[in-house]
Amino acid sequence: AKKNGRGNFQFYTPEMQVKIKEWLKLEGELRQAIQRNEFVLFYQPQVNLRTGKICGLEALIRWQHPQYGLLSPDRFIPLAEEVGLIIEIGEWVIRTACQQNKSWQDAGLPCVPIAINLSPNQLLQPKIAENIIHILQDSGLEGKYLGIELTENVSMESPDKNLLIMQDLKSCGVRISIDDFGTGYSNLTYLKQFPVDEIKIDKAFVRDMTTDFQDDAITSTVIAIAHTLRLQVVAEGVESLGQISLLSQRQCDVVQGYYFSRPLTTKACTGFLAKDPSL
Ligand code: C2E
Ligand code: CA
Ligand code: CA
Ligand code: CA
Repeated sequence: AKKNGRGNFQFYTPEMQVKIKEWLKLEGELRQAIQRNEFVLFYQPQVNLRTGKICGLEALIRWQHPQYGLLSPDRFIPLAEEVGLIIEIGEWVIRTACQQNKSWQDAGLPCVPIAINLSPNQLLQPKIAENIIHILQDSGLEGKYLGIELTENVSMESPDKNLLIMQDLKSCGVRISIDDFGTGYSNLTYLKQFPVDEIKIDKAFVRDMTTDFQDDAITSTVIAIAHTLRLQVVAEGVESLGQISLLSQRQCDVVQGYYFSRPLTTKACTGFLAKDPSL
């Protein structure tokens, strides 16, 4: 409680009250955003360092808010998690990504896996694997053209249940990536426990690796461990040619970042895929 000018106690300062009002307003709008078709997916290409060809896409959500414009996920995903809307939004993401990838394939564009981000609460859903498999069937997309990205923290919360979910998805060919690798609290044992295909090195390590020998050492070590375990390595947040040549020296497999492309609208991504030399 906080003492105000008249000697009374109030629980919130006026600034806090404004913040809470904004949140409640945003929550109401978030509830309607699916019906109003206000979410959009952007797609960021991933490039194979050896071939220079596009080898995957990551779907990243945005909210085209009627008043505030295009909102990044950091502005509304935490709220969606808090109020339970992440389940519905997450399902929309999986469905949209699968349908879009299928229609690119049907248009004769390169067939590459599309990865979606799965939040902790989504993984706690009782039928998450069944739901994803169902969406795959509905869209007609083969399982091997879908990937899911999980953070390290997620995968340790209830390891037995998560193992079953991952095994169900793997049996349909779905690829599993550990996102933001190196920033979580868990240890390396889950790389052995879980059927992981890929590690994504967090952009915090990639950012300064050309100037900070510790970040370079961490990145190199993660790549070495991953390769020993037969896992593919993606470096995130790659913005410069210097980073690319160093990552290439360090045997990194795949890069993703502004250097090759920012996350693209559906239309722009169609153009990017059409220009791909692997066609
Ligand atoms: P993330 O999964 O780690 O995604 C990578 C973020 O890095 C994206 O931010 C991307 O736009 C940004 N990025 C890509 N290349 C570069 C680069 O070269 N430099 C820098 N500085 N940044 C780069 P974005 O799109 O704002 O997404 C933020 C986070 O929101 C994501 O982090 C992910 O955790 C979450 N998110 C995005 N879409 C979804 C979704 O559909 N569902 C859920 N649950 N979370 C999502
Ligand atoms: Ca991700
Ligand atoms: Ca990441
Ligand atoms: Ca992140």
